[in-house]
Amino acid sequence: MEERVYNFSAGPAVLPVAALEEAQRNILAMPGVGSSILEISHRSKTFTEIIEQAEANLRKLLAIPENYRVLFLQGGAQLQFAMIPMNLLAGSGKAADYILTGTWGKKAAKEARTQGEVRIAWDGDSTNLTRVPRQDELKLNPEAAYVYLCSNETIQGVQFPSEPQSGDVPLVCDASSDILSRPVPIEKYGILYACAQKNAGPAGVAVVIVRDDLVERSPENLPSMLSYSAMAKAKSLLNTAPVFSIYVLKLVTDWLLGEIGGLDKMLEINQRKAKMLYDAIDQSEGFYEGHAEQANRSLMNVTFRLANSELEGRFLEQAATRNLASLKGHRSVGGFRASIYNAMPVEGVQTLRDLMLDFCRENG
Ligand code: PMP
Repeated sequence: MEERVYNFSAGPAVLPVAALEEAQRNILAMPGVGSSILEISHRSKTFTEIIEQAEANLRKLLAIPENYRVLFLQGGAQLQFAMIPMNLLAGSGKAADYILTGTWGKKAAKEARTQGEVRIAWDGDSTNLTRVPRQDELKLNPEAAYVYLCSNETIQGVQFPSEPQSGDVPLVCDASSDILSRPVPIEKYGILYACAQKNAGPAGVAVVIVRDDLVERSPENLPSMLSYSAMAKAKSLLNTAPVFSIYVLKLVTDWLLGEIGGLDKMLEINQRKAKMLYDAIDQSEGFYEGHAEQANRSLMNVTFRLANSELEGRFLEQAATRNLASLKGHRSVGGFRASIYNAMPVEGVQTLRDLMLDFCRENG
């Protein structure tokens, strides 16, 4: 069998081996069913149990309060860029506040403008998208329909250490690249959502956690597939759900609850992994330069450059010889990006840290 590399891809990304192996074991015939998960009805008893267990796992891991719905929707995170303003902004007579700390927040704001008035509460371009705003820098409108943020900007590697305060205005968060990496006070959010393909499972499903009172705001004239209210009523099964993606999400959350032991434990591991790489950057005396300001560094996407960019090709070549894959940074930021999601093994991060130290010694 082909050997697995240490895969630092930003997404779709590395998944827990235990989850992949379980999926592999059951791909021909699920125990007690005799058919693959790919071959059974999304309304079968077996799949009903899977989607209910996936929701129960998420509720347990994130301590999701009773008054929130958990929806499994298609269209990735980017359909949420549109569904959020379709459900909460269009026709509300209000504007929405967007906090921009990177590429994904900007894209979300652009989509929202197709549905209503968008105000920019803070624009990270003023500081080259290297940090999140302080509370006193935010220009928030107390009458806004919602305040939008992206908790972890995957491309820039900039993460909110805690949520901004929005008073009575619902906070709406794209947590695509840090969901399930740490405990989150869901009760502080109106909506928290994420595509699955980084920390939660395969592409094809997005998890959308919505407070009940916001579910009820969906305009009547929305097409059902775009309406939180219709989707919540149908328990995410209005049409044929992405059964395999939801199944693997269930396996990934089983792994988090079982082998890992919950999100406090996961956070500890993630902090340890990130520290190894940030220490290598900070102790290199300028050989490596981190993109994000220290206080807002992402635990999931470590972005850095070489002061001498001519050495980048050689760094990537050496990475490949050590089984380290997908380290090239996004073209808009350059340099490197090590995405070290939950399922990236500690040994993978150690191997990258060792390469960074050796490469600095040899070329610094
Ligand atoms: N938001 C964030 C923070 C992301 O990292 C991504 C994907 N890289 C997206 C949104 C878009 O996700 P999708 O491709 O599922 O629409």
